[in-house]
Amino acid sequence: MEKIKRVSDWLRAAHSVVAFTGAGISTESGIPDFRSPGGVWSRYKPVYYDEFVASRQARARYWKMRMEAYREFASAQPNAGHVALARLEKAGKLGGIITQNIDGLHQLAGSKKVIELHGTSRIVACIACGQESPPEVVHARIEAGEEAPDCQDCGAPLKSRTISFGQQMPAQPMAQAHELTLSTARKAGGAAGVFLSIGSSLVVEPAASFPRLAKENGAKLIIVNATETLLDPMADLIFRDSIGQTLTALRSFVCNESKP
Ligand code: NAD
Repeated sequence: MEKIKRVSDWLRAAHSVVAFTGAGISTESGIPDFRSPGGVWSRYKPVYYDEFVASRQARARYWKMRMEAYREFASAQPNAGHVALARLEKAGKLGGIITQNIDGLHQLAGSKKVIELHGTSRIVACIACGQESPPEVVHARIEAGEEAPDCQDCGAPLKSRTISFGQQMPAQPMAQAHELTLSTARKAGGAAGVFLSIGSSLVVEPAASFPRLAKENGAKLIIVNATETLLDPMADLIFRDSIGQTLTALRSFVCNESKP
């Protein structure tokens, strides 16, 4: 509780607070994180973007995995961690979320300013003409026997609007994330901004560069993660507890709620 009080004071005093989230914030919604044994990510070899474009066989493998992952996402609901961040934003205490997640649960919880670095699995799009479809429509085609669906307008492959291994990071979200991160920089003579890194092992680049950038510019770096992360040595404070419980406690202190 001492640590919660200390961080709540930092959050209240900060001119800017930003949250950076990874797969760990969604495990309490039943979506396994990247390295959990048994999760889809551990059972399939990733399909690199070049392979996806070049080979129908690779696309069939990609869609088999995506169908399984999407079933996990489709039934998942936001948990206490997502809700706490949405409430902090609504109360004017959180400037935005930079997420590596593709599950859309922050938006479902009510968060408005969400920067998705790796895209979203809730939209499917043609890789050539950009025509978008809801995933359910494409999944129905796969269930009816198509292994690797193509665009019905131009014939090019359809792909989830997520960033695959080997695919370039999207320029606009990266620039927005950079700007939001720098909003936490320490102002001359003022209190530090706060950068919360939540549920990420911080091993995937360039995403992990944001907490580093915040810290290098004078923000306080708080890490909420059950296991060690690459940036632990830089952190001002680390919580190893459940994300849902930690963020609920922080939310209730920062928003002066009597009950979490
Ligand atoms: P990661 O799996 O590398 O790290 C997740 C971290 O969260 C782990 O270190 C784990 O100890 C911690 N964690 C898990 N549940 C927790 C809990 N309840 N409380 C406290 N800590 C908890 O994930 P990453 O750093 O986000 O990188 C994985 C990549 O895979 C990302 O790029 C992401 O796009 C993708 N991914 C996304 C989802 C999703 O959208 N939900 C799920 C899996 C993977």
